Amino acid sequence: MNVADSERASTKLREAGYELVGSSESADVVIFNTCSVRARASQKVFNRIGEVRKARNGNEPTIGVMGCVAQLEGSALFDHSSSINLVVGTTATDRLPSLIESARESQRQIIDVGGRVDGELWKVSNVERHSPYVAFVPIIEGCNKFCSYCIVPFSRGREQSRVATEILDEVRSLREDGYKEVHLIGQNVNSYRPLTSAGLEGFSGTTPFSKLLRAVAATGMNRIKFTTSFPRDFHPDIVAAIEENKNLCNWVHLPAQSGSDRVLRAMRRGYKREDYLRRVDAIKSSRRRIALTSDIIIGFPGETSEEFEETISLVAQCQYDGLYIFKYSERPGTPASGLADNVSNREKSSRFSTLEIFQKNLQGVIYKSYIGREVNVLVEGESAKSNSDMTGHSTCHKVINFPGDMTMVGQEVSVTITEAKANSLYGVIKKN
Ligand code: SF4
Repeated sequence: MNVADSERASTKLREAGYELVGSSESADVVIFNTCSVRARASQKVFNRIGEVRKARNGNEPTIGVMGCVAQLEGSALFDHSSSINLVVGTTATDRLPSLIESARESQRQIIDVGGRVDGELWKVSNVERHSPYVAFVPIIEGCNKFCSYCIVPFSRGREQSRVATEILDEVRSLREDGYKEVHLIGQNVNSYRPLTSAGLEGFSGTTPFSKLLRAVAATGMNRIKFTTSFPRDFHPDIVAAIEENKNLCNWVHLPAQSGSDRVLRAMRRGYKREDYLRRVDAIKSSRRRIALTSDIIIGFPGETSEEFEETISLVAQCQYDGLYIFKYSERPGTPASGLADNVSNREKSSRFSTLEIFQKNLQGVIYKSYIGREVNVLVEGESAKSNSDMTGHSTCHKVINFPGDMTMVGQEVSVTITEAKANSLYGVIKKN
């Protein structure tokens, strides 16, 4: 979401006549886009501001902070750093140009943490996108779930879905401009619930999200991925839509967070282990092989070693293609911050490595099972490790490396897998 926010902010700034430069050394204005999902986000931004000031040696630019830290800390940021001239919240992105003008003209500190206003549309110019082949398309902003450990509902506000016509127009125009893949993004994409069904008429689906998936598939975009899915709202009709449409990619990211019912309840996730496993069953029993990835938080307040074992057994049952493991850390202002963070750091580290090794072994078997199979890869660029190899992602969202050259960038190729590494696969392009 933050990358997508930066793309939207850059679009607005360039429209207003700003020139975007690659380094803070020559800029008149430096804007920091911040994320607060991980700990110490505000400390990081203060450090970066310090670095910019030091490099500029007295010739200070106008400094702004946008994103989650700006939304959460508001005017307190001015008290922490007198160098900050501008604070712009998560839904004030479109007003960035006029806010910069005000800060520069008035020489005063300016803050806007207000919501979006009528008529502000999600509009991103292709020049600002992070790739000429893969585009992020936000379909929902904010979150209504209020998991007890999470700051997102406070930093990004309540769920607001984009109307489908707007999303579909964006995907069609990306396709015309040569994009090969879109990622429909949002904190919880499958909680998609637009105010009107405009654009979804004529598409079947048990939920607005599965209708939207079918509608996006009908645009003819080559590859469509979506993330993140919230388990409680994951309807099996999503799997049916993936089965019906080859261009809906065979990858689902479904964060479990824990395998223990008591911990899930304390996290206020709104589902039990069995509910989660039912969703996983629907994904695993699909006639397409759908890759499944997940997030786990270890060391949530009060998590016992037995409860951690339940998470290990859930991971064993789910056979994830990939897993992001996080050690719990308190976010001030969330309900969980009132609970004693009583799993020691040492214990968290030990559980972290136990789970990491466990997943590595499972993943090793899954990755090896790809040897001899053919996967469709969108070529993204040179591999970081060898300049005679190219790299890209498969439709099942695995990193695939293979011998090739830069003329292939932006193309879809068929790669036969010959070798499995810990977090990537290696192969050769299939000759026709
Ligand atoms: S679903 Fe829970 S973890 Fe995800 S963004 Fe919302 S509150 Fe945070």
